[in-house]
Amino acid sequence: MKISEKLKSRSPVFSFEFFPPKDEEGFQGLFETIEKLKPANPSFVSVTYGAGGSTRSKTVDLVGKIKNEIGIESMAHLTCVGHQKEEIVLVLESLKKCGIENILALRGDPPKGEEQFVKTKGGFGYASELTSFIKSKFLFCIGAACYPEGHIECPDLQKDMDNLKRKVDSGVDFLITQLFFDNRHYFDFVRRAEKEGINIPIIPGIMPILNLRQSQRFTKMCGASLSDSLLAKFDGFKDNLDKVREIGINHAIEQCRELLLSGAPGIHFYTLNKSKATLAILENLRG
Ligand code: FAD
Repeated sequence: MKISEKLKSRSPVFSFEFFPPKDEEGFQGLFETIEKLKPANPSFVSVTYGAGGSTRSKTVDLVGKIKNEIGIESMAHLTCVGHQKEEIVLVLESLKKCGIENILALRGDPPKGEEQFVKTKGGFGYASELTSFIKSKFLFCIGAACYPEGHIECPDLQKDMDNLKRKVDSGVDFLITQLFFDNRHYFDFVRRAEKEGINIPIIPGIMPILNLRQSQRFTKMCGASLSDSLLAKFDGFKDNLDKVREIGINHAIEQCRELLLSGAPGIHFYTLNKSKATLAILENLRG
């Protein structure tokens, strides 16, 4: 089923993001995670696409398996990195063959060791180009990424919003945000997007802090911020992993509750292939 259809329902859409593991043991662990998360009845799950197309066949296999064998609606991420149009068509054909109806169309980050994104000859330079190409040839429902605190390569928030408007107009059906830890960024972003005439659902992406150092690394990489007042909650507990998890999960619960009460269409959880924190948050929200 297309995610755009699910988003028409009145109840919030909950989704989980996974990445394709490196080895067999990782896959085993991921399938256990999915089995544990399945009773939470996610609206859909999504599987990331590795830099440079490195997980191409793994992403396709995984979304197919999750949809057809485990029985959860799934969405494949797809990036422009290192691909010519013809290769993109092959990936899309194999996704279609597996019955996949939803794609998260992304430009992608530069491959490891490279500073800048370089458009592949015969490929696409922006997610908007990928989106219009897919829409011109296929019937997939298309999601895209957005950045409440701005994309890291575009410090001018208005320019980034203009680029987002162009991307949405190229055929995007819904957006998923980069992670953020202060809801004011989301609320302000949604207001600015509406002012620009962006009227599609904007699903907030949430990643609970389970390991402070790891979250600090992620935020630095993706241009999100951790406020001093949030960091202060962890003062005195930095080496107490259980306490860090507890504070991180409670913060995520507060975030999600406020987002949903304020009309967010759902929550997309960055699970990092783990189930416990996401389940704890969802149980609390539903309870
Ligand atoms: P775009 O929307 O193309 O934007 C990229 C930059 O170009 C921005 O700075 C934008 O302002 C600018 N821009 C856009 N259009 C124009 C234009 N016409 N002219 C000038 N400038 C323009 N990465 C992966 O490698 N694999 C994944 O699976 C993956 N999943 C993700 C899931 C989510 C929910 C999110 C939020 C991000 C994900 N990413 C993933 C990261 C993403 O690939 C990077 O953030 C990447 O740097 C930008 O991708 P984009 O699709 O947002 O790019």
